[in-house]
Amino acid sequence: MSYIAPAGTPLTFTDIIAGCTQGLADSGSGKLQAALLAHTQLPKAWPICSGRAAMTMVLAAMKEAADPARREVIVPAYTCYSVPASIIRAGLQPRLCDIDPETLSPRLDDLQRFDPKRVLAIVSANLYGIPNDLPAIESAAQQMGAFMLDDSAQSLGARIAGRAVGTYGDIGLYSFDKGKNITTLQGGALVARTGVLAHAVERHYDRLPSAEVIDTLLLLAKLPVYSALLRPTLYGAVHKLPFLGLGRTMYEERYPITRLSTLLGGLAARMFKRLHTINQTRARNATHIIESLRDVPGIETIRVPEAAEPVYVRLPLLVADSKQRQTLLSSLDVAGIGATASYPLALCDVPEVARVLPDQDKNMVGARHVANSIVTLPTHPYCPPDLAERVRTVALTASR
Ligand SMILES: *Cc1c(COP(=O)(O)O)cnc(C)c1O
Repeated sequence: MSYIAPAGTPLTFTDIIAGCTQGLADSGSGKLQAALLAHTQLPKAWPICSGRAAMTMVLAAMKEAADPARREVIVPAYTCYSVPASIIRAGLQPRLCDIDPETLSPRLDDLQRFDPKRVLAIVSANLYGIPNDLPAIESAAQQMGAFMLDDSAQSLGARIAGRAVGTYGDIGLYSFDKGKNITTLQGGALVARTGVLAHAVERHYDRLPSAEVIDTLLLLAKLPVYSALLRPTLYGAVHKLPFLGLGRTMYEERYPITRLSTLLGGLAARMFKRLHTINQTRARNATHIIESLRDVPGIETIRVPEAAEPVYVRLPLLVADSKQRQTLLSSLDVAGIGATASYPLALCDVPEVARVLPDQDKNMVGARHVANSIVTLPTHPYCPPDLAERVRTVALTASR
């Protein structure tokens, strides 16, 4: 049976061949760098083998560039588990800021709890392609004398107040992993303005080894499989196979930290050209679903900050509680729609993170509510034109 994958970016066989060939010819990943610089209007860009590797490297650079009393990194209490994993791997102290369930943005009043002299950095989240209140987070970081890392792993192409998400604060991060805005299966990048931090990052990047040939070959072998699987007919045939591990969220501190392979850099540069079109399709699909659910009881959409242009890599919704969520997810599953419960836990409830948190960060009410009630719907270009109508029918039945 046909089944709509929860997330994904169309990638054709031609993209893979042509992108990687261009990557080989362009051995310094210059094309990807140029695309990143043009998009962000920033002077510095570094392609790296994954978002989490990029984050670990930035944190190490921040550690060198700042006063040794600053060892705490504040992250929104609901975000990708790789974020606290990179902080712990970098030998720093993760601290949690609760989020506002209405916007999924860090609660500015909760930032008041921290001792500004100990804070090394504040990290944004911009989940699902929806910008956080980045101008406010940027000024909060400035007031603390801390760095800000704009984590735009899910928001490449989004803007707020006319500025690209990923360009707020001192340094920005993008990911090209599966389920991100554009994908090379695994990949990432950093972008920055010039300054002390950019210098420190540059030194780390200069020492960074090239990608392992074997890792690149494995990714190249998987790319055509991914590209074929995203189609609803094939995804329907295989998505229940347990060994694929689709949709599982794991906490992992071990991962390689290398440059992005030049082949994958070429592919990312090629996908960059289609970013705008892909984002437009996703935003249109998301808008249709939001409109179709307007009068369905028990479903809330996320409020987008003023002057923000979201890119909806997925469409997040909130229901009342985990029981209602289970009902809705099962009904969507039966209807062949790949909805997910996103990250299953607030970071204060992930054991590896909880172990190192101070007590005052262990009860994140907003983040827990989101973890228990969030549902994400697909928005990618393989979504059929009647998706919004089908979601509405399922949601109305499930809400009774
Ligand atoms: C995916 C993601 C990362 C990590 O990126 P990888 O390329 O998967 O390592 C970091 N932060 C957020 C918010 C993400 O969604």
